[in-house]
Amino acid sequence: MSDSSPELVPSNFIRNIIDADIESGKHQRVITRFPPEPNGYLHIGHAKSICLNFGIAQDYPEATCHLRFDDTNPGKEKSEYIDAIKEDVRWLGFDWADNLHHTSDYFEQLYAYAVQLIKNDKAYVDSLSAEDIRLYRGNLTEAGKDSPYRNRSVDENLDLLERMKNGEFAEGEHLLRAKIDMAAPNINMRDPAIYRIKNMSHPMTGDTWHIYPMYDFAHCVSDAIESITHSLCTLEFEDHRPLYDWFLDELKTPAHPQQIEFSRLNLDYTVMSKRKLHEMVEGGYVNGWNDPRLPTLSGMRRRGYTPNAIRDFCSRIGVTKKDNIVEMSVLENSLREDLDANATRALAVLDPIKLIIDNYPDDQEEMLNGVNHPKKPELGTRDIPFSKELYIERSDYMEDAPKKFFRLTEGREVRLRFAYYVTCTDVVKDNAGEVTEVHCSYDPQTRGGKSEDGRKVKGTIHWVSAKHAVKAKIRQYDRLFTVPDPASEKDRDFKEFINNDSVSVLTDCQLEASLLRAGAQAYQFERQGYFCLDNVDSQAGALVFNRIVTLRDSWAKKK
Ligand code: ATP
Ligand code: MG
Repeated sequence: MSDSSPELVPSNFIRNIIDADIESGKHQRVITRFPPEPNGYLHIGHAKSICLNFGIAQDYPEATCHLRFDDTNPGKEKSEYIDAIKEDVRWLGFDWADNLHHTSDYFEQLYAYAVQLIKNDKAYVDSLSAEDIRLYRGNLTEAGKDSPYRNRSVDENLDLLERMKNGEFAEGEHLLRAKIDMAAPNINMRDPAIYRIKNMSHPMTGDTWHIYPMYDFAHCVSDAIESITHSLCTLEFEDHRPLYDWFLDELKTPAHPQQIEFSRLNLDYTVMSKRKLHEMVEGGYVNGWNDPRLPTLSGMRRRGYTPNAIRDFCSRIGVTKKDNIVEMSVLENSLREDLDANATRALAVLDPIKLIIDNYPDDQEEMLNGVNHPKKPELGTRDIPFSKELYIERSDYMEDAPKKFFRLTEGREVRLRFAYYVTCTDVVKDNAGEVTEVHCSYDPQTRGGKSEDGRKVKGTIHWVSAKHAVKAKIRQYDRLFTVPDPASEKDRDFKEFINNDSVSVLTDCQLEASLLRAGAQAYQFERQGYFCLDNVDSQAGALVFNRIVTLRDSWAKKK
């Protein structure tokens, strides 16, 4: 990792708490965890949590961060997601070393703790229907009332729980609940569920269990088992904290981690809840979880986002308790900064038109030399073939151009990047009046793009040699939604706001010859933006590039 020394990482209120805990001697060694449920792919919101938790582990002496799969819901969880999550965390640059855990590793211990709660008269098996449980719970203004099953004997509860575990009952027939207070002002404390029946096999534990623990019980106990010191979660769990503490206090677990909440990341013009992402993927609104338009880490990786850019973004947005929506441009600026510093430059014509140099010998070819990065000579140079017929960008020629148009129009001279000065002499048009060829003459004394006589040209345009060019498809992406917060539009489904123009494909792009051997890294196509090969659809002989991001934030202007 490049830049994660503690001095460079902006502090936040959570790091302040940790500093104080170390100072006071409460903890010598900090242990955090990132606890994804393997029911979907990770998104940029998860990256905030990953950077926070793993970042702390990197910056504090001897600290560690556990990766724990919260696999308590076998109906929705798949090993495909587990593999993808691991790949994403590693890609972001983090390492859990040998601290890979699953909540299912603790099913025996969790069960033993549940038995202990029953023995302490702090849990009971309820046999009300789901509907009645809801009615008995009350609401924000009305207290709940006790279930008629609340006073079952310890023995009866133990017997029922064991039989639930063994699969003697149908789903929904019984529920193990904490015995707290049905009149508690905090509804989470009104005898919350601990175990529910699910007659379902589990990827890790097979058919051993017919009951699976609820999040509020499993999470705090798993944290305690792993001696997590600071359990960092998003703000919606603030009202669950009393329950987190209640379980650990009642069970007198050897460790009692401190839950601290922070605000989740929201980004504009996209959606991040896994439920919505599932809808988009399963409904075919996008092409899979790694669609380059999605805010999933696999989609962003495919698009060409770099781990550096994402970590930089997470450090810039910081960690607070204030809810807000971050503008996409903040993320894109982190991306641009990283790409500008590191992307290899190349010449590529996206919307080609022929440029013919009439005074250049017909069969002549020569190699010109281009720098791979204007600010990093250590990245070297490359040979770029030049010949009589080139492709240039259609928009770099204009008939009757205004004075300020420093590109090609009859009589005007421009510099071809790394090559020569050329002066436009005339054009050829088709029957419809469309320009099909731009004709120029070149000055052989200006090789390399400079003139001995010191005469200046204002414009420099990019080009590729027609006979050496590599043809490619380029996908250009735009925002996935047409409104900043598609999920909050009243009475409307968020999918109604999908941007139908979120991808456009250019099929006739002409790239410089060196891109035939393009690798996985990002390129800056000069004057165009940042691009990378699409790691799914690109093939030798049929290259497909993704536009990662434009050079500047032209989107804000367009709106
Ligand atoms: P979603 O709400 O998108 O469905 P989740 O919270 O159910 O996600 P988990 O797999 O439970 O997904 O999340 C793992 C961790 O990532 C949790 O600690 C959660 O708080 C954190 N996390 C999820 N979304 C965000 C977000 N947008 N910003 C910051 N942290 C997040
Ligand atoms: Mg969750």
